[in-house]
Amino acid sequence: VQFSLPRCARLLSTSSRCRTVMPAWVIDKYGSNEVLRFTKNASFPIINYPNEVIVKVFAAGLSPIDVAMRGGYGAATLSMKRDPLNIKQSGSEFPLVLGRDVSGVIMECGLDVKHFREGDEVWAAIPPWKQGSLAEFVLLSANEVSHKPKCLSHIEAAAIPYVATTAWSALVNTGGLRKDNCANKRILILGGSGGVGTFAVQMVKAWGAHVTVTCSQNAEQFLRGLGADHVVDYTAGPVEEPLSALEKFDLILDNVGGDTESWALKLLKPWSGAKYVTLVTPFMQNTDRLGVADGMMQSAATVASKALKHLMKGVHYRWGFFAPSGCALDEIRDMVDAKQIRPVVEETFSFSQVPQAFEKVEKGHARGKTVVQIS
Ligand code: NDP
Repeated sequence: VQFSLPRCARLLSTSSRCRTVMPAWVIDKYGSNEVLRFTKNASFPIINYPNEVIVKVFAAGLSPIDVAMRGGYGAATLSMKRDPLNIKQSGSEFPLVLGRDVSGVIMECGLDVKHFREGDEVWAAIPPWKQGSLAEFVLLSANEVSHKPKCLSHIEAAAIPYVATTAWSALVNTGGLRKDNCANKRILILGGSGGVGTFAVQMVKAWGAHVTVTCSQNAEQFLRGLGADHVVDYTAGPVEEPLSALEKFDLILDNVGGDTESWALKLLKPWSGAKYVTLVTPFMQNTDRLGVADGMMQSAATVASKALKHLMKGVHYRWGFFAPSGCALDEIRDMVDAKQIRPVVEETFSFSQVPQAFEKVEKGHARGKTVVQIS
């Protein structure tokens, strides 16, 4: 069976390759940076479904979630997603490849893939339950992939997909923003200087919103350069006070978390449909701690009670989540090619420097994204 499965799977694809192994950075257990291991013998991806594509990775983006996943964050939830019937032994996710952004070239397509051809330049955000992009090749569903912006290099393109699809999911799907309804909106982005913040500022600014951000004092000019209209320095003291003195907001995107939600919802315009969307949620911690079923129930109870409490005060409370989407990336590509959004690459590392790239992300204080050049 072990031999015949890959052979069957190969029949679904339009062409076959003889390779069975590839270079990759993997982890074999959860832990700190020393669990990262380079191998030339990682399993080469196999097309199992006709809508899948194999992408040759040119550049991979790193995010705080990669550092967290290296340490075991989300292990219970992601294992359930990888193995819903719980057939496999615990630890079957190893060797695990991290890296959530990819920019590269389509190398092989499943038979049902119509929108892409071998050789197309593409970008994608890789769901955390799939093998990541710190490898020479990665397997994706075609609906997670999009043609990359023509005006960007692979390094620049790899800085965008994960933070962009997260911001899109939070602001568009959860927050209800669209390019044609932002013109008179006041938007507050708490934590503007990191990966998600630098993308979100540019996106809502391009859609005509008035954008206020919080960040460290040394990031103020950087964020004004990305389009922020008003910047509040959180290192000068509690931001609640200067923010309360401003006109109220239509939407708040919270990239910071902590005690923020205890004061931030008071900054929204009540009884106007205004929303607070936080990306910092206890969802994964709950499922890791309590198991998937109890953790999900705990999360549902928490978010429902908070949403109800705030609804009675006339504002909406929501949790936002990353959602992979080739369609969202298509729209984002058009904005990038129209020069409305630019990539913010803070630092680039070579493939041999992946542990140093993790160290950089782990130190925090990001000013945009960390990218690894793979080939
Ligand atoms: P980054 O690490 O790239 O950026 C975080 C930024 O916040 C840094 O620039 C940091 O700079 C700044 N910062 C830290 N503390 C504060 C503060 N009190 N006020 C304002 N700014 C602050 O993270 P990402 O942008 O990738 O992600 C942002 C958050 O969203 C993370 O918590 C992440 O876990 C979460 N997230 C959640 C997802 C989901 O599916 N729910 C998906 C993706 C991200 P400095 O310290 O120098 O001020």
